[in-house]
Amino acid sequence: MRQRSDSWHWQLDAACLAHDRALFFHPEGERGPRRRSRQLMAKAVCEQCPVQPQCRDHAMAFPEHFGTWGGLTEEDRDRLRKARPPFGRRTQRA
Ligand code: SF4
Repeated sequence: MRQRSDSWHWQLDAACLAHDRALFFHPEGERGPRRRSRQLMAKAVCEQCPVQPQCRDHAMAFPEHFGTWGGLTEEDRDRLRKARPPFGRRTQRA
């Protein structure tokens, strides 16, 4: 059984602590190339982060609705959630 951790200790090792928080959360009205560029820079930080798996799990489990977490933008997380079958509606095995 997967446990949901209430611990935030993993955040102490977060690579984003050394960066401006604005890199990970879009300002009001940000669109198009500027948004994509910022998101790519945030993802590059996440790719070097030692706690990326914990961060990604957290963002998917809670869920976090805004910002880049674990290398996933809010659009990435929405796509992943839509691709997963709802809990309890998985295909039965014969
Ligand atoms: S994966 Fe990205 S958002 Fe998550 S803690 Fe690391 S740097 Fe921060």
